[in-house]
Amino acid sequence: MVIVADKPDARGRTVREEDLQAAVRAVEKSTVVCLSSHVNPDGDALGSLLGLTLALSAQGKAVYAALPRPEQFPPQYHFLPGREMLRDPEEIPEGADLFIALDCSNAERLEGLRPKAEGARFLVNVDHHEDNNLFGHLDLVDPGASSTSELVYRLLRAGGWESTPEVATCLYTGLVTDTGRFQHRNTSPEALAVASELAAAGADLALISREVYESQSLSYTRLVGRALERAEVLEDLGLVFSYITQRDLRETGASLQETEDLIDHLRTVRGTRVAAILKELEDGKVRVSLRSRDGAEVGPVARALGGGGHANAAGYTSDLDIEGSLARLLEVLRRGRHG
Ligand code: 5GP
Ligand code: MN
Repeated sequence: MVIVADKPDARGRTVREEDLQAAVRAVEKSTVVCLSSHVNPDGDALGSLLGLTLALSAQGKAVYAALPRPEQFPPQYHFLPGREMLRDPEEIPEGADLFIALDCSNAERLEGLRPKAEGARFLVNVDHHEDNNLFGHLDLVDPGASSTSELVYRLLRAGGWESTPEVATCLYTGLVTDTGRFQHRNTSPEALAVASELAAAGADLALISREVYESQSLSYTRLVGRALERAEVLEDLGLVFSYITQRDLRETGASLQETEDLIDHLRTVRGTRVAAILKELEDGKVRVSLRSRDGAEVGPVARALGGGGHANAAGYTSDLDIEGSLARLLEVLRRGRHG
């Protein structure tokens, strides 16, 4: 696939014990800790955010946690403990002692909260994206980690801070969703070991699988049907793609926030290595989700189109309509294939 001019990133990094200890010291000497994660939050963004919020509150910290866009909280994660602790982004103080950004490959992913993150006296960046641009004063960035939730667990262990059953439920949710239920390549021995420790700490595995994977609304079920019916394969590219429009959302009654796993229904088509789903937004722009396997990489494709992500799971937002976005995507995929 395409190779884009490299800017400094986190490839090859791991998190050293001394970095974890530095983060622990930063937390211990702060009374107020601000936390956030990225726009269009997924299970890992929410699980790592809420898990750390609960754990640090239990340490007696005044925790100010917010999503950059609270209205984007997906319904399938409403069960997560600690959700009631989230505040409006306006309530996050300026110039805080400590701000921790979770699962963000760059500060733009914090959107409106970016100035508050960058204005904090100390900014800690906890993430596992290989294209993380190391925007923190301290970067706990490990592209080998399955999820940001796994890194938060390592941080809790380093601090000797308790993982209550509620904290464990949040972090396990991040792990199980970012590894695609322990199926993707990021399912390392370490990820499974952390999952085991979280289960031992009381994570409610039955609740998580029921709420995240078996509580789909009928409207969304019908939306999945539309997307699957429209799926097409381009054999020369090993690509399967489909799309949903605002009209589909209106007619089925589904919401965009429910559609995180739509791509997983598509990506299983035999003979394909790349899956793409295009979702029309209210303002006419299009959000594109990409997944790949068997050696194909979509991270560089997403970056070439203004987004980012992992080698095998990436995304971006396109200013063109669905047809235009698709044409542009095919162009980039074809260019990559021919060098
Ligand atoms: P999804 O397709 O589930 O929205 O995103 C897949 C992965 O790509 C996630 O790790 C997500 O954080 C990342 N990603 C999605 N869209 C963007 C984007 O616009 N910019 C960056 N930097 N990463 C993105
Ligand atoms: Mn993640």
